[in-house]
Amino acid sequence: MLGNWKMNQSVQDVNAFCEEVASNWANMPKAAQCGIAPQALHLAMIREKLPRDIMTGAQNSSEHLHGAYTGENSPVSIRDLGSSFTLVGHSERRALYGESNKLLNTKAKIALGCELKVVFCIGETLEQREAGSTEAVLKHQLEEGLKGINPTANLIIAYEPVWAIGTGKTATPEMAQESHAFVRKVLAELGHNAASTSILYGGSVKPDNVQGLLACPDIDGGLVGGASLKAKDFLALCHAANNA
Ligand code: PEP
Repeated sequence: MLGNWKMNQSVQDVNAFCEEVASNWANMPKAAQCGIAPQALHLAMIREKLPRDIMTGAQNSSEHLHGAYTGENSPVSIRDLGSSFTLVGHSERRALYGESNKLLNTKAKIALGCELKVVFCIGETLEQREAGSTEAVLKHQLEEGLKGINPTANLIIAYEPVWAIGTGKTATPEMAQESHAFVRKVLAELGHNAASTSILYGGSVKPDNVQGLLACPDIDGGLVGGASLKAKDFLALCHAANNA
């Protein structure tokens, strides 16, 4: 269960979150992997304050390791700060920053080369769903985004229908399962370890709808924005992941 905080936590919020989670973490069964991706400036701080077994990760990482790229965050530094994963290709990066599948493919390769787990995000827009092209879009994003990437346990896919992100509109478990099963089929066609690759669902996941989603056979976890901001909800989501 991964939280994506975007830029929605102040330093004060981060401190309060970490304190509340740390003081309730001893009661958490530890089967499921849980993690938080804050804005990069907060990475070192949350790594210090959160229990060690809560992973930390970046929301984005550069396609370059070093050099004159003002404003970028190197995957080397993300790893050196004790973080273990990075999101690649979140729909906000694709839509707002024009990140192409080709660029995302490079980012994924570079991050994997730094031994970070890559949470590769894919998903269709509402227009694409309504035009009946969901599967074609997902297949294209996977084919282009994973080109030349060898099967690895460090690759995680997050299926996030764009129309469900931050909108309160969740895909029904049936809709999400259908897309997840399709993603797993495409992963197999591309030569990845489809059965053992984690495929997370993202899009308005909350404590009150997470159980139905996690009960689906091809949904292995969640990538959660809004509901991961509150410690109480994050803890509830982690409990649900442990009980799934
Ligand atoms: C996200 O930011 O990736 C996301 C899924 O957000 P939300 O849970 O708020 O829809």
